[in-house]
Amino acid sequence: MSTGAPQPRGLLYRWASVLPLTERTPRITLGEGDTPLVRSAAIEKLCGLDELWFKLESCNPTGSFKDRGMVVAVARAIEGGARALMCASTGNTSASAAAYAAKCGLECFVLVPGGKVAAGKMAQAVAYGSHIIEVEGNFDDALNAARALTAKHPVALVNSVNPDRIQGQKTAAYEICESLGDAPDILAIPVGNAGNITAYWKGFLECAETARASLHPKMFGFQAAGAAPLVAGQPVAEPQTIATAIRIGKPASWAGATGARDESGGRIDAVTDDEILEAYRLLAGKEGLFVEPASAASVAGLLKVGRAGGIRGGRAVAILTGNGLKDPDTATSQYTPKITKAVASVESVERALGW
Ligand SMILES: *Cc1c(COP(=O)(O)O)cnc(C)c1O
Repeated sequence: MSTGAPQPRGLLYRWASVLPLTERTPRITLGEGDTPLVRSAAIEKLCGLDELWFKLESCNPTGSFKDRGMVVAVARAIEGGARALMCASTGNTSASAAAYAAKCGLECFVLVPGGKVAAGKMAQAVAYGSHIIEVEGNFDDALNAARALTAKHPVALVNSVNPDRIQGQKTAAYEICESLGDAPDILAIPVGNAGNITAYWKGFLECAETARASLHPKMFGFQAAGAAPLVAGQPVAEPQTIATAIRIGKPASWAGATGARDESGGRIDAVTDDEILEAYRLLAGKEGLFVEPASAASVAGLLKVGRAGGIRGGRAVAILTGNGLKDPDTATSQYTPKITKAVASVESVERALGW
């Protein structure tokens, strides 16, 4: 029976006990976290898995997992007296920072690589009212500038070099262990700046330490072939890929990513843009999941490793990091829509369908 106001939801309520919060941390929320875990219909067989589950991080309030880290980073910044936020972004960090800034009455400054941010993400940064600075150069250049600016001015840096971001993002690993009753055998995730793979590994380690899980997953990170510094073992000066969210040549959490790989017995591989787009089309066409290209990298990687005989059954979770609606240009370039015209009558539609 209802007794008035609904219970507040969101990360700072649900996972308070595992986050670095104090009594003075404001419990802000846009309803982030608690995202669905959905079983694969078709792709799991193609990968040689017994079970494949998709964690729909695209269901967060701004359409990507960045909200998990951002809610913690922004709450802690407010607690520390911040009135303004800054980030460098390939698009989703800026959308998320701008949304929480709007909700909390903060100013938000976003540095984006000119011409390389998907249209939907730019629309979000504009709609939430952030100050947008398009910089010449790529994400790595923008992050360098943001670090220097926030060291000089009283503005909180909310990129994943901020440890509160990692703390917030680790909660997805807790949710997976809770939903499955244990950690999966494999965790597949796209890797750009490498904050998220670092956060998941931290979360899974904590789950094992606190008996929420009996095992650690092998961490399978996937970079785009044109932006694969962790695979090459050295930074990439001019990263290129259709998956703009992971178009990063010098990941800030480099050691976190290689540590997760090595400690878990996992791997970090590259997938080509063609492989990413194949997974993108399979996810939409066979699973009903419309994701942005970067998110499809996790599934492209599982398909690649599976087809090469590198997977022998077991249970995997693939992180679908962001919503396909964010990048409508990639969607329209991938398909030739089959659209038939008719007037709105039974006869006309029947004729159009050839019935
Ligand atoms: C940020 C982002 C990534 C990459 O995450 P990192 O923490 O930078 O490795 C992948 N996919 C989407 C949709 C993103 O927004």
